[in-house]
Amino acid sequence: MTNSKPEISEIIIDKQKLKELQERLKNPHFSHDAKNDLIKKVAGGFCSDCGEIPTKIVSYDMDGARLIEKYCDKCFKKWEKLEKKK
Ligand SMILES: [Zn+2]
Repeated sequence: MTNSKPEISEIIIDKQKLKELQERLKNPHFSHDAKNDLIKKVAGGFCSDCGEIPTKIVSYDMDGARLIEKYCDKCFKKWEKLEKKK
């Protein structure tokens, strides 16, 4: 096995941009696709677990391949708990 320890980094989103994004996501006139596009633009992707705005990037090597996952605060805490049990 060549798996390495996961590396964790923060996704830095400008406060103003984040506020705008959250307001737009609440807007019922925006389609699901338009909301997804916005999240992608501002945060670079979605939470791997729930599809919300991600705040953390977790990357690790699995059998020689680089895996990158993004998590929101809620799912990151879940992930951390699981990781500690390992
Ligand atoms: Zn999540």
